[in-house]
Amino acid sequence: MRIGILALQGAFTEHKIMLEGLGAECFEIRQLKDLYSGPVNGLVFPGGESTVMDKLLRESGLFSPLRGMLEKGIPVLATCAGLILLAEKKEDGTPPCFGTLPVTIRRNAYGRQLGSFQETAPFEGIGDFPMTFIRAPLIVSAAGQVKVLAVTRRYEMTQGISQEFPAAVLWQNQLAMSFHPELSGDPSVHAYFLNMVQNAASLSEGRPA
Ligand code: GLN
Repeated sequence: MRIGILALQGAFTEHKIMLEGLGAECFEIRQLKDLYSGPVNGLVFPGGESTVMDKLLRESGLFSPLRGMLEKGIPVLATCAGLILLAEKKEDGTPPCFGTLPVTIRRNAYGRQLGSFQETAPFEGIGDFPMTFIRAPLIVSAAGQVKVLAVTRRYEMTQGISQEFPAAVLWQNQLAMSFHPELSGDPSVHAYFLNMVQNAASLSEGRPA
């Protein structure tokens, strides 16, 4: 399995370390030619600053080919700012980046007053997982077909809103979360993603996973 990690900015090295620890081959995507350096079985969009990434994606010419790959269903793991890149809608009304994931997000919702925090909660298919939030986007709503794999009650505790919100979602081959699984020391989410990549590769080769 060969995974391309968007490395324009942000926390990409930690994903590489996690995935390589699980036996995957990784390469960094910084410029257009990186996309054509060999087969690409999956993508990772890391945390960082989504507005900067959006700008660099367009300036580097990476935006269109990556959107094409997403539209064709390449498996992607998107964390924090990466989730913002995929989201179909942003509550502040600014235009989406790729807009391939039918969720609405609120940027920086787990805001400055919190800095970062960790909350352990069940993640479907994994079990309890330590979720690290860093100035993270809130998934305000998700379309009916989007599968919610983990929720957080943390927003309720800090904002007085009595509601659980999705913290990790899956739609088609897009696995996205508000938190940073690469900083948890627990490789389960990355293993879950590699399993998706394996299944997608087996399907496209016409044999069972
Ligand atoms: N606040 C960042 C943004 O809006 C996301 C934070 C993160 O990725 N840790 O892009």
